Amino acid sequence: IRVLGIETSCDETAASVVALDGASAPEILSNVVLSQIEEHAAFGGVVPEIAARAHVEALDGIVEAALADSGVVLGDIDAIAATAGPGLVGGLIVGLMTAKAIAAAANKPLIAINHLEGHALTARLTDGLDFPYLLLLVSGGHTQIVAVRGVGDYQRWATTIDDALGEAFDKTAKMLGLPYPGGPNVEKAAASGNAARFAFPRPMKGSAQPDFSFSGLKTAVRQAATAIAPLSDQDVADICASFQAAVADALGDRVGRALNRFRQELPGKADPALVVAGGVAANRTIKATLEKLCVQAGFQFVAPPLKLCTDNAAMIAWAGIERLRAGMAEENAADFVPRSRWPLDSISAPMVGSGR
Ligand code: ATP
Ligand code: MG
Ligand code: FE
Repeated sequence: IRVLGIETSCDETAASVVALDGASAPEILSNVVLSQIEEHAAFGGVVPEIAARAHVEALDGIVEAALADSGVVLGDIDAIAATAGPGLVGGLIVGLMTAKAIAAAANKPLIAINHLEGHALTARLTDGLDFPYLLLLVSGGHTQIVAVRGVGDYQRWATTIDDALGEAFDKTAKMLGLPYPGGPNVEKAAASGNAARFAFPRPMKGSAQPDFSFSGLKTAVRQAATAIAPLSDQDVADICASFQAAVADALGDRVGRALNRFRQELPGKADPALVVAGGVAANRTIKATLEKLCVQAGFQFVAPPLKLCTDNAAMIAWAGIERLRAGMAEENAADFVPRSRWPLDSISAPMVGSGR
């Protein structure tokens, strides 16, 4: 099976060809990602209109490059898989319409993919992981814990009640005058900071409710920064280190709770696994915290290569392959309408072509 994947839901324009032949391991034949970070940097965040226009300008060339890199001609592709949501609607329209046009011209089936399903199934592409497992998705737009039980069988156990974690990093960076994207710059500054200087709150820690919250932490950072302004480089470093420590602590508490629940509800699983996805998974302090937690709880810790953790089209092509293989892509999705909101647990039923 060879599937061409297309991803345009946020600020990456991406296309990829993934192949699965018989019982051998899947192969990523090409994986082209064009990040729009520079276009958005001046605004300190993703601007939807700029993103949509950038996707229009780049997508045809990116698809051509992905096909050329893969060595596969369009005629030998079995299906086109495109992200149909959730995300910024302008980008979704560009990606899905382009995919529909390619599918129609080449007379191939189109599979509409939920972006979150792409993240959820990536560990099966990279690590051949068996169901069920637990997914922690921490990106600029999402902060979720999902029990991944099968293709199309996802149960969201936790989400954020306010900001996404990546968003909290980006906003913190902005407050401190650090450049966009905030996450890597906060981590860099934190490396020379004192994590014990500020006692920031650990939102939701110990709560019986499973969800995340980060806006209270953000407010505490703003108050601390305002109180000692003007900020020296050391002040910024100390705030970043203290913020990062609070985040890791809060995250560890929430994830630890989910690991326990997984053990209780899916006790048959001898070698349970936690998979991380999303750009925040690049953070070494967070990664170390999660890794330690997994060792203590007897979980395998799976962190796919960063290029496949952040937004990419290989995960979309792979989700297309999983759906083809599971017989969950039999209808044509030519009438599928992009959905800016599309919760992962709502797609359990066969989804292709049922987009309204
Ligand atoms: P999605 O729609 O999937 O949420 P996104 O583009 O917002 O897409 P990603 O590209 O997966 O998400 O990740 C980007 C986010 O990850 C940004 O918020 C960025 O600040 C954060 N990030 C990147 N590197 C780090 C890091 N080292 N530490 C913390 N956060 C990071
Ligand atoms: Mg991104
Ligand atoms: Fe994503």
